[in-house]
Amino acid sequence: MLWTTLVFLGFTALLVALHVRRSRPAAAAAPRARSCPRCRVVVPVGATVCPKCGVPPQVFEVVAAPVAASADAPASGRLHAAVRSDVCVGCGACVSVCPEPGAMTMQGKLAVVDPEICKGAGECVKACPVNGVFLTTGAAVQRVEVPEVNFDFESNVPGIFVVGELGGRGLIKNAINEGKLAAEAVSRRLRSGTAPAGSALVHDVVIVGSGPAGLSAALTCVDLGLRYVVLEQGEAAESIRRYPRHKLLLAEPVHMPVYGDLWVADASKETLLGIWQNVIAMAGLDIRTGQKVEDVRRESWGFHVVTPGASWPTRHVILAMGRRGSPRKAGVPGEELSKVFYEVAEMEEFAGRRVLVVGGGDSAVESALGLARQRGTTVHLSYRGESFARVKDRNRAKLEEEIAAKRVVALLRSTLLEIGQASVRLDVAGEIRTLPNDDVIVRIGGEPPTAFLDRVGVRRVVKEIAVSGAGA
Ligand SMILES: Cc1cc2nc3c(=O)[nH]c(=O)nc-3n(C[C@H](O)[C@H](O)[C@H](O)COP(=O)(O)OP(=O)(O)OC[C@H]3O[C@@H](n4cnc5c(N)ncnc54)[C@H](O)[C@@H]3O)c2cc1C
Ligand code: SF4
Repeated sequence: MLWTTLVFLGFTALLVALHVRRSRPAAAAAPRARSCPRCRVVVPVGATVCPKCGVPPQVFEVVAAPVAASADAPASGRLHAAVRSDVCVGCGACVSVCPEPGAMTMQGKLAVVDPEICKGAGECVKACPVNGVFLTTGAAVQRVEVPEVNFDFESNVPGIFVVGELGGRGLIKNAINEGKLAAEAVSRRLRSGTAPAGSALVHDVVIVGSGPAGLSAALTCVDLGLRYVVLEQGEAAESIRRYPRHKLLLAEPVHMPVYGDLWVADASKETLLGIWQNVIAMAGLDIRTGQKVEDVRRESWGFHVVTPGASWPTRHVILAMGRRGSPRKAGVPGEELSKVFYEVAEMEEFAGRRVLVVGGGDSAVESALGLARQRGTTVHLSYRGESFARVKDRNRAKLEEEIAAKRVVALLRSTLLEIGQASVRLDVAGEIRTLPNDDVIVRIGGEPPTAFLDRVGVRRVVKEIAVSGAGA
C-alpha cells in the first residue's frame, strides 16, 4: 500500500512538473541588435538611441517605410480599427467618439478594439491626437499619407524640411527629435558650402510653427549658431496651450537641445508650458507670434516666406506646422481666452460643462454630437444658416435625434457676438441672448496643412508602415 502511494505521488509530481514547464511562458527571445534605418550603424542591445544619429531609430519609421503600390487601400477583408500600442497615450478620445458601443474600450492606459463589433466607421482615426488608430482589413499595416522626405526630413523641394506631426508621426518626443535633426542638416549644408549664398539679411532658416518640433529646431539653431526666426500663427507653443485636458504623457525622457533631458510622465500641460516658457526665455528664442505663414516662394538664392504684410528671406525653411492647419477664427471679442478651442480631441474632458459649438458643417455637427454623449454636458449649437442642409444625411439624422431628446439646443440664424469668462453673447434671429458658458468650440472651417503643402510644391505619398504593436 505504502509502495503504491509513493508511486502515485511520484507520478503526480512528475505530471505537475511537466505541466509547470509547459505552462511557463517560453523564455523571451534574446534581444537582438538592430541597425539604424538611417545610417545603418548597429544600435547595441539595450541602447535607446542610435550611437551616430543620437535619436531613437523609430524616428525614421515613416521615412523608411515603403511607398504603397496603390493609393487605394486593399478591398478584401472586413474593415475595422486597430490601435498602435507604441503610440497610444491613453486619452480615450477614440472611445468617446466611437458610434458602436463596446467596439472600443480603455484597458488601463491603452485603447483596445473589438474587431467583431467594430464596423470601421473611422471616427476614432480622426479623433486620435497622435495618429495612433488606423483602419485595416487584418494586416498589421498602417497606411498614412505623408509628405515625401529623406532621412534629413528634407522634402522634394530642396531646402524645405518637414518635421513633427505634419510629417505623419504624432507624439511630442518624435516632434522634438525631428526638429533637431532637420536643423542639424541645415547646419551641415551651410558648413559644407552647398547651401545657396545669401546676403547678411537672409536668414539661414525660417521655422514655421512653435510646437515641440519648431521649438526643438530653434534650440538647435541657437546651439549651432544659425541665423533663424520662428513664425507662429498663434501664441508660442499654441498647440499645447489649446489642449483641453490637463494631463500629458511623455513615455520616455527626450533630449531637448540646450535644455537637456525632458521627462514629464503624467504631468500637466501647465507644467510642460512652464518648462517651455523657461526654455524660450533662457535661450532667448526669436519667436514672432501672430504670424500666419501663407506661402513659401522659391528664389534662386532660397525662399521668401510670406506672412500677411511681411516677407522673410531665407535659405532654408523648416515646416513644423502640425496637422491641425489654420482654423478660421470667429473674430469676436474674448476669442483669445483659453476656453476657446478649434477642434475637440478629448470629448470626455467636456463632461458636465456648458459648451457652445459654432458652425453648421459636418465638423461642427460631429463635435456637438460627440459632446452630447458626455455625461452632464449642455450643448448649444450656433449656426447662422436657416437649417443644417449642408451636413451628411447620417449626421443630420443623428442631430435631429439629439435635438428631439434635448441633448443639443440648435440656435439657427444666430451669430456669436462676444465670449466672456463665464458666458457668451449671441444674436439669435434678431434677439440678443446671453448664455452661461464654460467652453466655446469654433468649427467654421479653415485651411488644412495639405492645401499649404500643395501650394508650396511639397509632394505627398501614401506609405505603408508595418506595425508590430497593433491591438485589434
Ligand atoms: C488633445 C491632445 C493630447 C495629446 N496628448 C499627448 C501626449 O500625452 N503625449 C504626446 O507625446 N503627445 C500628445 N499629443 C500629440 C502632440 O501634441 C503632438 O504630436 C505634437 O504637439 C506635435 O508637435 P508639432 O510641433 O509637430 O506640431 P504642433 O504641436 O501641432 O505645433 C504646430 C504649430 O504650428 C503653428 N502653425 C500651424 N500652421 C501655421 C502657419 N501657417 N503659420 C504659422 N504657424 C503655424 C500652430 O499654431 C502650432 O503652434 C496630444 C495632442 C492633442 C491634440
Ligand atoms: S485616441 Fe489615440 S491616443 Fe487616445 S486612447 Fe485612443 S488610440 Fe490612444
